[in-house]
Amino acid sequence: MDVIESIARDIKSSGHVIAFTGAGISAESGISTYRGQGGIWNKYDPNIYANIDTFLRDPTYYWNFFRDVRYPMVKNAQPNPGHRALAELEKMGKLRAVITQNIDELHQQSGSKTVVELHGTTRKYYCLKCHHRFDFDDAYEISGKTIPPPCSKCQGMIRPDVIMFGEPLRTDVLRAAFDEAEACDFVLAIGSSLVVYPAADIPARAKRRGAKLAIINKDETPMDEVADHVLREASGSVLPAIVERLGSL
Ligand code: ZN
Repeated sequence: MDVIESIARDIKSSGHVIAFTGAGISAESGISTYRGQGGIWNKYDPNIYANIDTFLRDPTYYWNFFRDVRYPMVKNAQPNPGHRALAELEKMGKLRAVITQNIDELHQQSGSKTVVELHGTTRKYYCLKCHHRFDFDDAYEISGKTIPPPCSKCQGMIRPDVIMFGEPLRTDVLRAAFDEAEACDFVLAIGSSLVVYPAADIPARAKRRGAKLAIINKDETPMDEVADHVLREASGSVLPAIVERLGSL
């Protein structure tokens, strides 16, 4: 039996399946990964461009990065077959939730309904003073005129709804993610190097509780040894194959 078949069979016999996704799945949609070769943080020091203390002192770095790099990259990205396969799995009633480290909303765009965004979203913005919310295009439009862009209601400072370096994850979001880790009996960990904590503790905790773990990632991860299945392949080709196989079981 091949690995795809084994994963499909395990999903079929599981009662509560979750997916945990990282930058690798978005990379297949053209969004650069953060670490490793070609990673965004090799070119843009995150302690300057994505750190909360730097941002509050001088948001210029972030907004230049947003305007020149992040906006065009995320704006042009489309969900890939891996995202769509997960949405399909949810529609089939076999996937309870996607817990993601990604901030691009590609899961939602592909049709996934239950998405836990551990690190927030770069597609939403809000004013620190009056809490007025701005969408992705609004933020781009305002930052095209002035950097840093002032709130159009009160001139206050606008920030992205992402968790920046130096900020804790939101407790309600973490709770939702760990509730899933406690309840699931199968985890698909996709495109994550499984090294960023506390995010990586979600599949780890599920595994410790006895859930089965499948890792789909192009590179080795520290959890490969304890995983039940490991596929070092592109999620865009593997996930549709798993869903297809599942449909024929
Ligand atoms: Zn405001």
